[in-house]
Order: sequence, then structure tokens, then C-alpha cells
Amino acid sequence: MKIAIVGSGYVGLVTGVCLADFGHEVTCIDKDQSKILELERGVVPIYEPGLSELVNANVAAGRLTFTTDLPSAVGQAEVVFIAVGTPSRRGDGHADLSYVYAVAREVAEAVTGFTVVVTKSTVPVGTGDEVAHIIGTVNPEADVAVVSNPEFLREGAAIEDFKRPDRIVVGIDDERAREVMAEVYRPLYLNQAPLLFTDRRTSELIKYAANAFLAMKITFINEVADLCEAAGANVQEVARGIGLDNRIGAEFLHAGPGYGGSCFPKDTTALVKIGQDFGSPMRLVETTVSINDQRKRAMSRKVIAACGGEVRGKTIGVLGLTFKPNTDDMREAPSLDIIRGLQDRGAKIVAFDPQGMKAARLLVEDVDFADSAYDVAQGADALVLVTEWNEFRSLDLERLKSLMKTPVFVDLRNVYRPHEMARHGFSYVSIGRFDED
Ligand code: NAD
Repeated sequence: MKIAIVGSGYVGLVTGVCLADFGHEVTCIDKDQSKILELERGVVPIYEPGLSELVNANVAAGRLTFTTDLPSAVGQAEVVFIAVGTPSRRGDGHADLSYVYAVAREVAEAVTGFTVVVTKSTVPVGTGDEVAHIIGTVNPEADVAVVSNPEFLREGAAIEDFKRPDRIVVGIDDERAREVMAEVYRPLYLNQAPLLFTDRRTSELIKYAANAFLAMKITFINEVADLCEAAGANVQEVARGIGLDNRIGAEFLHAGPGYGGSCFPKDTTALVKIGQDFGSPMRLVETTVSINDQRKRAMSRKVIAACGGEVRGKTIGVLGLTFKPNTDDMREAPSLDIIRGLQDRGAKIVAFDPQGMKAARLLVEDVDFADSAYDVAQGADALVLVTEWNEFRSLDLERLKSLMKTPVFVDLRNVYRPHEMARHGFSYVSIGRFDED
């Protein structure tokens, strides 16, 4: 099949390359010329494990091309995916749909013959209706079926998630699209990935409901962690104890500094607004958003407390900046709130992240970037482990301590064991665990 993907970011690029790998003929489009030029030179502009290799293999096989020329790619395509960003709208937290609607207008002018237009971006209920309306208004001759096909991949494991999804959700209001979408995903269908057909509005809501539920689960265990700290219990054991119950499940029960990233914060906020707009408030999600916002800020206070209540003039080393490991994505990362909170109280920040420093430089001020965890530790009054990159999991604790001015270690991901840290002479603070291990 001939497929065009509009928007070559984390989702568009992964979707494009995986569909090409299935044997489809794919063109990835972006309006950002520098991105397309890089991709044409074989340079993948984002960090995602395995992505470069897969891009290069599919380009070499002639199944994957890149362009800024939307009309020509869309004109030839049987299926057009819209995979542009839907960030929070400034001011009110609604999903900003201006990019999606701009693409709908461009696509309307370019389509030829029957074309399935698929919204892969995360969009509020009813967006598909508006996309169909825009296309029909701009080009009344256009013969299109507008489909919702939300994406559930996780950054850091995006290719694996795309190729082995738990389910593929496809929302259709035009029966002609059913066969086309089944053909797009046929290789996965053969692998038994359930292809769940729904109506378009239901499909749009499934994506927000899924993300809000996961955000709620994280927030729940974070609150349990606070209770563990107050009551002298261990959150990791509580998480294991409840996670072994199949009705609950073990995933998304890791207590930490609060969720961040390019999806959960904006999608929970958008769902709150959607609920309000429909007069059907999502109160659990509203509370989740508020708890999480407060938690991210509270983490800097935890560091300050670990430093004896004062960080003015002290050097705090930050290990990990991205919102999770194996990505270079810095959007809404908890590290940003923690750094800001510490700087507000007069701390000097030194930081290191294996992949996130390029993006971080654009988002933080007055931070010294180091070359390694040990470089960060040099002369530091305290270290804060914010992102659990593998390379931070087995640090040489003796060496680390010998480099630091004072051996204070705040572990916001519970990577280390309290007794082990104590044995190495660290003053150690973690999440939801008391001193004993
Ligand atoms: P992104 O910012 O990485 O990529 C979006 C791309 O679209 C950018 O390269 C931008 O230049 C391009 N673009 C914008 N307007 C365009 C236009 N008119 N024509 C051509 N290109 C245009 O965003 P992302 O993280 O890939 O997210 C895309 C969508 O997928 C969002 O709705 C997001 O919520 C959803 N999503 C993201 C993830 C994730 O993990 N990142 C997972 C599931 C769903």
C-alpha cells in the first residue's frame, strides 16, 4: 500500500518506519525542513533505541522516503496518517488542535481518489468529525473516510511497542475504511494483535482514558509512598503485594517523582477539559493532575530537607534529566521542576544525562552540564538521581563518595538499597522507604 505520514516526530517516524518494514511504501512528511534533510542524510533526529538501524534498512530497501512536499506524497497515497503534535493549548489546557486542522486543510487540497485519512495524533472526542468537516469544506470533491487510530507506543520501547502492541484501536464511521485499515495492519493481525474496531468517537476516548488511567495508577502509588514514609512501611513491597493481584497488575506501580513526558501531563489535562466541556467532570483525573503537579514541586523540598534544610550556595548534582530512560525527550520532565525549585532556593546545579542534554540546554538556565555521573559528583554537596538510566544503576559508590563534598544521595527512583548506601557512608533518602531494607 502507498502510505503518507504527516509529521515525522516520535510517533510519525516510528509509525512510518514500522509500516515500511511491514512492506508498505511509505513517505514521511514534515514541514521542518532541517528534520527532513537530516533524515535524507541518514541521520535520525531523535534518540529511540533501534530506530536509526530500522530507518536505514528501509530506506536502503526503497520502501521509505522523506519529503517536505505534502501535496505530491498525499496525492499518491491510499492512506494518510496525521501524526502531528497536539500540545496543551496555552492558557486553558485544552489540546491544541491547530496543527491537526492545518494538516487537514492541506490534505484536503491534495487527495486524489478514495483516501483513508487516519488521525494518529491524540485528539479529543469529536476531532474526527471536525477533520471530516474541514476536508469536505475545503474540497467538496474529496472522497475520504476519516479514521481514528490512536497510538499507544512508549518512547524508549517504541519500535517493540508498535510491532507487538497489546491492541490496535481503529475507530471508523465509514465502512469502506475497515478493509483498508485491516490491510495496513495485516502483518500484526497475523501475529494475533487484537484489532479492535469501534466507532470514531469511542476510539478517540479510548486513548485519553488509557493514559489517564495509567497516570492515576502512578499517582496512586506515589501517594501510597508518602503514606509509607509517614507510617514506616516499604512502598516497593506494597507495590509487589498489590501488583501480584492480576486484577491490579504490577506495571505502573513504581513510586517516583511524579509523571512527566510528552503525553501524560497534557493528556490528563485535556481529558479534564473534555469532561468539563461535556458537563461530565472527570474528578479523579482532576485530582490526579493536581497531586502530580504538587508532587513534582515537592521533590525539590525533599532534596532541600536531605541537605539539612538549606541549599543556598550548595552544589547539587542531578543524575538524569529526561522524563524517563532511553529517550532524549525532555517535555514536562520532573527534573525541570526539581532544578527550578532548587535554584529558587539558591542552589547551584550540575547535571548529566546520557541523551537529554541537548534538549535540556534549551529549557534550563544556569545549569552546568557534566560529562558523566562522576563528573557531576565532583565537589557536590548532594546528588539527586532523577532518571533511572541503566548507567546510574551500578555506580561505583566508593568513587562517587570520594568525589563529593558531602555524601548526601537522594534517590527519587529507588534504584539503590538503603542499607547498602548506609554501608558506604551515604546519608541516603529515597521514596516511600524507611531506613531498614
Ligand atoms: P513531535 O512533536 O515529536 O512530532 C510532531 C511533528 O509534526 C514535528 O516534527 C513537526 O514538525 C511536525 N508537523 C507539525 N505540523 C506539521 C505540518 N503542518 N505538516 C507537516 N509536519 C508537521 O510529536 P510526537 O511526540 O510524535 O506526538 C505526535 C502525536 O502523537 C501527539 O498527538 C501525541 O500526543 C501522540 N502520541 C505521542 C506519543 C509519544 O510517546 N511521543 C505516544 C502516543 C501518542
